[in-house]
Amino acid sequence: MNIDVDQSARRTASDGAHRPDFAVVGGGLCGRLVAWQLAGAGHRVALYERGDAAGTQSAAWVAAAMLAPLAEAASAELLITELGAASLERWPALIAQLPEPVFFQRNGTLVVWHAGDRAEAPLFERRLRANAPAALFDNGFVKLAGAQVAQAEPSLGTRFAQGWLLPHEGQLDNRQVLSALAAGLAQRGVQTHWNTPIDAMPDARFVIDCRGLGGKPAWPALRGIRGEVARVHAPGIGLTRPVRLLHPRYPLYIAPKQGDLYVIGATEVEGEDMSPVTVRSALELLSAAFAVHPGFGEARILELNAHCRPTLPDHRPAIVWDGARTLRVNGLYRHGFMIAPEVADAAAQLARALLSQTVSGPDSFDDFRHRARWSDLLHTEHTVPSL
Ligand SMILES: Cc1cc2nc3c(=O)[nH]c(=O)nc-3n(C[C@H](O)[C@H](O)[C@H](O)COP(=O)(O)OP(=O)(O)OC[C@H]3O[C@@H](n4cnc5c(N)ncnc54)[C@H](O)[C@@H]3O)c2cc1C
Repeated sequence: MNIDVDQSARRTASDGAHRPDFAVVGGGLCGRLVAWQLAGAGHRVALYERGDAAGTQSAAWVAAAMLAPLAEAASAELLITELGAASLERWPALIAQLPEPVFFQRNGTLVVWHAGDRAEAPLFERRLRANAPAALFDNGFVKLAGAQVAQAEPSLGTRFAQGWLLPHEGQLDNRQVLSALAAGLAQRGVQTHWNTPIDAMPDARFVIDCRGLGGKPAWPALRGIRGEVARVHAPGIGLTRPVRLLHPRYPLYIAPKQGDLYVIGATEVEGEDMSPVTVRSALELLSAAFAVHPGFGEARILELNAHCRPTLPDHRPAIVWDGARTLRVNGLYRHGFMIAPEVADAAAQLARALLSQTVSGPDSFDDFRHRARWSDLLHTEHTVPSL
């Protein structure tokens, strides 16, 4: 992250006004990252979050936080996998700047399937080839057969005859990231307003709307895609990396965190239903985990939880400037943790260009957009197809 204090930051920090340079509305994953980055660049930043500092109201609280650009290529397009690959490289440096420790692992993803579901495997492989950058696939897709599966993940023994190791993928602890970012915001002097729902945009030079699904009033095409997960405590299983199970109806992952905690997820159900996990989903998640390793039969269920992924019609994230004082950052869908460093960075760069008036109208926005690394993310209200 760029933490140089530029001219515009010096000017606004020294002008004596109490009005923040930026008000960030929504302090889930994206809002915390954008606010933290802008504060690190010397700007005066306020953050408003309807929930608590832990982040319990956010989709980010429920997420498994897998950083798996290659495995996600099974359903995500090239733009997303490229954002994911670039973001994965940035997480370690970002975490190193936070004042609290965050579990981050880059030990790969193991993909397995039961013999009866072997028809899923070639389809999955074909999608990865088609949707991932060639280098990511060529260097990151290792076929395993027989004893190689057990060598890669000894606790699975001989249960799976075949598998793939995607050795460069990662994961982190979502709740530790949220907590460490809250501490980082305090450290960088951000005015944080927890437990503060916002409807009318607060006073600031620029407002950055990162409300996730809460941003729907400003963004009618935004929709929620419900996801349900189980968190279990399962000492003695000893998975060393996230395991994905290919299945025609219940594609599932099991992500081992610290302390023998496993996040088992996740369903994908159209709709903005935030109600508790259904019996059907709980049975599917837990029985699929049990089929991967019978030791999960003795696991203790710590939590069954559901939230909705904020999703735009094209399943891409978008950063939209309203032509005046508001930026909207949304649509991170099922890839928030995987792509957040790059998306937040792109949003912060545009925010700073607005503040310094490098961007002040349609022509300068177009210039900025053409020079930006992730130009496909940047829109005005007139160009975004999905507002
Ligand atoms: C079950 C599940 C599993 C997932 N697994 C993964 C995964 O493995 N890897 C991955 O990369 N991503 C995963 N995700 C996706 C990821 O969680 C989201 O993409 C990400 O959280 C989106 O970030 P956000 O900041 O836009 O939204 P959120 O994290 O939801 O944050 C939005 C914030 O805005 C606040 N807010 C809303 N309205 C208001 C208001 N009016 N005033 C003030 N504050 C408001 C909310 O309280 C919330 O804190 C998963 C999501 C789910 C649900």
